[in-house]
Amino acid sequence: RGDSRVADRRVDSVCPYCGVGCQLTYHIKDDRIMYVEGRDGPSNRNRLCVKGRFGFDYPSHPARITRPLVRKPGVPKGLDPAFDPAAPLTHFREASWNEALDIAADGLKRLKADHGSSALAGFGSAKCTNEEAWLFQKLVRTGFGTNNVDHCTRLCHASSVAALMECIGSGAVTASFMQADNADVVILTGCNPAINHPVAATFFKQAAKRGTKFIVIDPRGQALDAHAHLSVRFTPGSDVSLFNALLNVVVTEGLHDEAYIAEHTEGFEALKAHVAPMTPEAMTAACGVDPATIREVARLYARADKAMIFWGMGISQHTHGTDNARCLISLALACGQTGRPGTGLHPLRGQNNVQGASDAGLIPMVLPDYQPVGDARVRAAFEALWNNTPLDDQPGLTVVEIMHAIHDGTIKGMYIQGENPAMSDPDLDHARAALGKLEHLVVQDLFVTETAQFADVILPASAWPEKEGTVTNTNRQVQLGRAALPLPGEARTDWWIIQEIARRFGLDWHYDHPRDVFAEMQRGMPSLDHITWERLEREASVTYPCPADDEPGADVVFSDAFHTASGRATFSPTLPLPPDEPITADYPVVLTTGRQLEHWHTGSMTRRARVLDDLEPEAVASLAPGEMRRLGVEPGAAITITTRRGSITLSVRTDPGMPDGMVFVPFCYAEAAANILTNPALDPFGKIPEFKYAACRLSRGESA
Ligand code: SF4
Repeated sequence: RGDSRVADRRVDSVCPYCGVGCQLTYHIKDDRIMYVEGRDGPSNRNRLCVKGRFGFDYPSHPARITRPLVRKPGVPKGLDPAFDPAAPLTHFREASWNEALDIAADGLKRLKADHGSSALAGFGSAKCTNEEAWLFQKLVRTGFGTNNVDHCTRLCHASSVAALMECIGSGAVTASFMQADNADVVILTGCNPAINHPVAATFFKQAAKRGTKFIVIDPRGQALDAHAHLSVRFTPGSDVSLFNALLNVVVTEGLHDEAYIAEHTEGFEALKAHVAPMTPEAMTAACGVDPATIREVARLYARADKAMIFWGMGISQHTHGTDNARCLISLALACGQTGRPGTGLHPLRGQNNVQGASDAGLIPMVLPDYQPVGDARVRAAFEALWNNTPLDDQPGLTVVEIMHAIHDGTIKGMYIQGENPAMSDPDLDHARAALGKLEHLVVQDLFVTETAQFADVILPASAWPEKEGTVTNTNRQVQLGRAALPLPGEARTDWWIIQEIARRFGLDWHYDHPRDVFAEMQRGMPSLDHITWERLEREASVTYPCPADDEPGADVVFSDAFHTASGRATFSPTLPLPPDEPITADYPVVLTTGRQLEHWHTGSMTRRARVLDDLEPEAVASLAPGEMRRLGVEPGAAITITTRRGSITLSVRTDPGMPDGMVFVPFCYAEAAANILTNPALDPFGKIPEFKYAACRLSRGESA
């Protein structure tokens, strides 16, 4: 009282960063967020990590765009080193909403008229709400007339989803991460929760203290090793060899669950024959793990009464990412470790709404709820829901395929909402050149991002605390975000902007509020049965699938049957394949990329959050102490990393968790963009690039 810092109102919402989906309260004074506190949400129990607690001031960053912008005539597209995103009027002029929307839509409509629907594509966003994702894919499908719609799931867990859909008929987790507390054994592989899912990591640490045995399997060491029963380091890129060896031990030692296999699965005999030669002794050279450790891991997991597997992008971001996930699913099925509390398969989802955006249909081969675009009955149902608009029956192109299609002249116009492919795509020079070739690019965002610098029209959108809508976290919990701040200047909510573009495409849309969109989603998505907007306002979080209006939803699924035609899960045997770009004498070091605790993805939000950017203000590579010595550098020195696609220079720090022969680079820094280096080779099933493995060489100082 009497303190000028006392908030004058509080608004309950959800964290905008990672897939943990922490519930929080914004404390606001004079329409500015003063501080943030965690709430007692089901996935955070009052906790927040540094991003959720301190990363809230980006909406009021001085570089925020608050009026529509249109490129000035004659200004070339692309990343101009002299361009100041905080002073965009050097390259763009301000426009009214009507003019900007007309230019945005007219450019896309002209390309459709001249070249057909396949000349257009759209990237939606896992940072937006479920309702905005639904509207975006609906616009691309019914307005543009194509399935060329995708989003960042293609860069994170598309391969996991491909394997889960194939093997168990559902792309979401089978149990929440809270179930780790009920497990006897937990495998964490290809993930680093203390960095990427920090609040989930706190639950893992508590579970470890209560007796759950954690087995951390990764090429790199990490903070959770200190809480692990066993830490297993393997050779980068050799995941399938290691996992097949684990399966070999399970079947040759008779550790598999025969009753479970007989009742719930098909294809076990083929798997058994397939892994028979892949003994620990046969695979140890490839994976770098000694046979005794492989046997210990397999026995611990298989003999546990209840065991879970969690994985992250260390598993998915490989050209063999789908195979990696297939192996993990086979391991769980062979040991009967799904369908009960304390068991399950859990790909830790990245973005706050990547689960929801995928469910809502921001995927080129499926309509909402993963219903194939090629299924005539599915299309007919959505055509009936969407005003009898005919739908394309061909799967669309994925993120990286769209970049190739721009280069070959097939795709000429794009609408990009809240994604930043000029930072997030692999082989950035190629991706940026593609964006520069587009005849018409509409970008909808908060800032003039690297991608927006290629745009013809930039539409000023809403930050998370400025809008209302639902999001779905990694646990399948649908949660409600509430507007806490007024929109600055002439910025608009994303759903409003999408609707205005849709109307200019002649679509008869009349949504007055996100709850209208959610009501339509419920008619097309059985996964949302019994989850109403009113319920979310009341209860804040409901898990899908939910069997009744008064039930909280299923934390653990597939107790009786899987989501497949037969109700059975399928084993999918895999063969070890080398990384797409093996190391050579010229490129002897493995480059791996990822996030760091303080920053989120391409940095468009967190690098404009003062506390977070003060904590980690510059790009820094991580190397093992031995690698530092070999290179002859001290922490803080500049090094240059070169791959077949380009070079970046940045400073370096020592990380004792790094293996020799590997360098880690975070991908959020535009001034040393890691994705200039990365390999665009795709997993053939999930179409995900191999961000976790590229051959590189290191040198001291600036590149020559
Ligand atoms: Fe936000 Fe994830 Fe941190 Fe929770 S763990 S506060 S959801 S970034």
